Amino acid sequence: MKDTKLNTSIEFVKGIGKIRAKILKDELGLKNCSDLLNFFPYKYLDRSKNYKIKDIDSSNIYFQIIGVFKSLNYKKSGNKYRIEAIFYDGETNIKVLWFKGLSWVEKSIKINLKYVLFGKINWFDNKPSFIHPDFEKLENFKLKKIKLQPVYSSTEKLINSGISNNYMIKIIKNLFIFFENQFDENLNESINKKYKLISPNQAYINVHFPKDLKLLEQARFRLKFEEFFFNQLKFKISHHKIKSNNSGYFFPSVGSKFNSFFNNNLTFELTNSQKKVLKEIRNDFSSKKQMIRLLQGDVGSGKTIVALMSMLICIDNDFQTCLIAPTEILATQHFNSFNSALSNLNVNIRLLTGSTKLSERKIIFNDLKNGLLNILIGTHAVFEENVVFKNLGFAVIDEQHRFGVKQRSKIWEKNNPPPHVLIMTATPIPRTLTMSLYGDLDLSIIDELPPGRKDVITVSRKDKNRLKVFGFIKDQIKKGRQIYVVYPLIEESKKMDLKFLEDGYESIIKEFDINHYTVGIMHGRMKSSNKDFEMNNFLKGKTNILVSTTVIEVGVNVPNASVMIIENAERFGLSQLHQLRGRVGRGSYDSYCILMTKDKISDDAKVRIDAMVKSNDGFKISEVDLKLRGPGNILGTQQSGILDFKIANLLEDGDILKNASNEATILIKNDSKLIQNKNYNIRKFILNNPFNKSWNEIG
Ligand code: ADP
Ligand code: MG
Repeated sequence: MKDTKLNTSIEFVKGIGKIRAKILKDELGLKNCSDLLNFFPYKYLDRSKNYKIKDIDSSNIYFQIIGVFKSLNYKKSGNKYRIEAIFYDGETNIKVLWFKGLSWVEKSIKINLKYVLFGKINWFDNKPSFIHPDFEKLENFKLKKIKLQPVYSSTEKLINSGISNNYMIKIIKNLFIFFENQFDENLNESINKKYKLISPNQAYINVHFPKDLKLLEQARFRLKFEEFFFNQLKFKISHHKIKSNNSGYFFPSVGSKFNSFFNNNLTFELTNSQKKVLKEIRNDFSSKKQMIRLLQGDVGSGKTIVALMSMLICIDNDFQTCLIAPTEILATQHFNSFNSALSNLNVNIRLLTGSTKLSERKIIFNDLKNGLLNILIGTHAVFEENVVFKNLGFAVIDEQHRFGVKQRSKIWEKNNPPPHVLIMTATPIPRTLTMSLYGDLDLSIIDELPPGRKDVITVSRKDKNRLKVFGFIKDQIKKGRQIYVVYPLIEESKKMDLKFLEDGYESIIKEFDINHYTVGIMHGRMKSSNKDFEMNNFLKGKTNILVSTTVIEVGVNVPNASVMIIENAERFGLSQLHQLRGRVGRGSYDSYCILMTKDKISDDAKVRIDAMVKSNDGFKISEVDLKLRGPGNILGTQQSGILDFKIANLLEDGDILKNASNEATILIKNDSKLIQNKNYNIRKFILNNPFNKSWNEIG
């Protein structure tokens, strides 16, 4: 049932042929007719307005003039010929130049006949002229009534190969002839009605050759909706499939460990958000389906306790559980806090990292296999093949953005059926990104901080005010607080004008003399035992100031630390700044984040620093980040491909995405296999469309 037209190579569209097809493929990735059809103009030129030559000014780049060619002459400079023509609009003359295709120009233009001239204005000696403009006999132009002219993106190679915008327009017109202007409906009637979507026929024609602005808008709306809809539908189908294929471990009971912890060990009241998420997880645990849940919550929002309590439910149901963190420091910290939180509960917890000793490893592997070990906390080491559980029922992955998708999926293989999975992230990303990246995960959000948390007072300071900052640090230390000072890089690099960690350490030692202050230093190249030593000193309050690189970025929790100084803050990305700031403000004290910058910083850096100073809300900050860097950069190149939409735009079309996503959810809920008659078009589109090759999920 393949729709052969969409799959046909563009080579066979009239006017393309083998050679140009190859160029179009190499330069623009256009292979088949579906590619070409969905190669949308990136802008449109307004051809509805005619200008007088005397009104041409720099307010516009493109101008359209009606008039006659009065003369057309060959001129020569060096050994190159050009054509110079004089165009006259009844009042004024303008010069028109051609450097290529001269004989064709000469043949095509008739003197003293009315033409519509359209093109870019070139300024030379304060005089405007046209170079290689479009021209068309007025009588023909009126007949066609073109107003908005599409402009397709191009490359130098395309232009040099004679593939101009006009050529693109021509072949896309031929493409429409090839399709006989018939494009299949690919949504259902209720969606079309609800969102007042115009038909695919109208949408495709008007996106390439808009009859007017309103239809262009409607065409773009429909195509964006479609694009988001099928993007979301794919996620929902795969999610649905995983859910129905993977039975999940059944943890019906909340048992003695959970209850005992809840009644005796929990020292604070859970926030409503935390309660809500726990409930969502408990629902999953008793659904007999595998849980695959993403937990988003700002730094300090209390994700760990949610994870811990869920893990207790798992243990209460006689299964093992594990927690995986991206760094040794973080894993160790989780291990320590779990140990003290669960000290009287008779839970067997062990830590496995790259530096775990062989003898300890042996015990761990043994106890994992015979089921004596309840909780394994660790780093990437847990993913390794020799880590074999007796019955892993639930895995938690902390700070997921540090792990690759492949790595994460290794945990699935640790049991059969795969364990429940909770993926936690403190990197808030805008909702639109979450939907288009993690559409196949269930989503839980903690959107409030524990009570009594105050915003971290954030300021930016120039290097020249360093002495005042040092004075402030001394005050804070006098009050019993501790200070982080973070540097962006560890070693001297001649190219970059950075204050490096070691220099910084020296200067701090000078200012804070060792008779009165203790200063620690920590960086990624240190042995992990040394790192632990430093971190522990800081945790226990033995160190006043910890000078460090970003190794402390993730998750580290020292409630007594109240000041975060970020050196060369202009060098950091927004999400990293926000993460670092999250290291303070964890106790009940007023806390501060001081962003030290050079005297002069770039505009982007200013926006970043400003956003930090203005807001403590990670989701808001992530919106700014998205605007600054675009979706691809925010998440790293790994994932950016997923975010390549052809016409939809994650920055601008969030509402369309939400609606399209809702509709996809409704559809899958009502007709998960898309077998109902009314959804025939949707199913057919998925099976036929070359964009959707990877859709083997629906059978
Ligand atoms: P994150 O979400 O960044 O991982 P953590 O789980 O490390 O945050 O929690 C940060 C701190 O807040 C911890 O010291 C934790 O004990 C504390 N905390 C968590 N939930 C609450 C709560 N409901 N009330 C008070 N403190 C809480
Ligand atoms: Mg955490």
